[in-house]
Amino acid sequence: MTAAQTNLLGLNRHDLESFFTAMGEKSFRAGQVMQWIYQRRELSFDNMTDLSKLLRSKLEQTACLELPEIVRDQLSTDGTRKWLLRLADGNCIETVFIPEVDRGTLCVSSQVGCLLTCTFCATARQGFNRNLTSAEIISQLMVADSLLNQAGQERAVSNIVMMGMGEPLLNYDSVISAMKLMLDDLSYGLSKRRVTLSTAGVVPAIYKLKQDCPVSLAVSLHAPMDDLRNELVPINKKYPLKQLIEACHDYVATESRRRITFEYVMLDGVNDSDQTAKKLINLIREIPSKVNLIPFNSVHGIHYSSSPIKQINRFRDILLDAGIFTITRKTRGDDIDAACGQLAGKVQDKTKRSQRLAVQATASH
Ligand code: SAH
Repeated sequence: MTAAQTNLLGLNRHDLESFFTAMGEKSFRAGQVMQWIYQRRELSFDNMTDLSKLLRSKLEQTACLELPEIVRDQLSTDGTRKWLLRLADGNCIETVFIPEVDRGTLCVSSQVGCLLTCTFCATARQGFNRNLTSAEIISQLMVADSLLNQAGQERAVSNIVMMGMGEPLLNYDSVISAMKLMLDDLSYGLSKRRVTLSTAGVVPAIYKLKQDCPVSLAVSLHAPMDDLRNELVPINKKYPLKQLIEACHDYVATESRRRITFEYVMLDGVNDSDQTAKKLINLIREIPSKVNLIPFNSVHGIHYSSSPIKQINRFRDILLDAGIFTITRKTRGDDIDAACGQLAGKVQDKTKRSQRLAVQATASH
């Protein structure tokens, strides 16, 4: 890519129309090019045969379609597949494909590392470098779609979860732009129900999301009391539970079929007691929701352990008895570190957090 070239990947329909009108072309060119790129997987302007030769050569000069480089492609024994992608600046991010009987879910990253410091998460330990561009976000879907297609799995990605590295609501504009592209009929045409954004609770952005792109919402709750949540998910100090729960209420208020998914990582002896389950029930009982219990996946250097399966089941049953729809999320891809909270990529950390943690670890040995 030269400085004068615009990477057209990641431009949603509106932005791509502006690109074409700015070069004196009709806005419907945007739709044609989107179909070439995302539906026919064509990345060479020269092969876009319903564009005039002149336009194709203009595009060669002014635009480009640049995907990240695939540096590692790992397959888990359970069929989960994880890619390490190198971005133009050398940072690397991870994307995970989770096949199930009735769907294929792609777990997409939104940032290089993460600014949040949730104590049980691998990404948090990597520190933070920068937000991903919308091109880098949609590229993850393009890479997965294309490689799975080459492996004979046509349109294998049916669901997207913004649950990879990073906090999507702290990279708001690029995430919205990329999600609009996922939903657009001229590209992937996914329904809003099949795209889920997961947040640790950036409250003002939850209200905005409802206006701008109301996809399914998952909230990483992990604790029903402020003191414990302050510890596990420190952004809770800024946006405490009362505010978060109000925002969740608002998110589902006007659409009758919509439900919030509350994610809850099960940490042995920390947030998994019967009493905590009851507090959780009181906190969320008024909200149309379901709870996903996530067995804690081990992360190097983090000293929590997962609740035993017996306690997870017990916790689940207490919620079920109170009429709260609850499932235990199956751990997938942990043999290749692709499970929830295990994504780490290669982050050129700007926060010095990763360095600090490494020093602490050596000091404590
Ligand atoms: N920042 C967003 C997106 C990340 S989603 C969010 O917090 O929602 C990743 C999910 O995996 C979150 O629910 C996160 O809390 C959970 N998670 C993080 N570390 C984990 C671990 N070690 N074991 C199990 N789940 C974990």
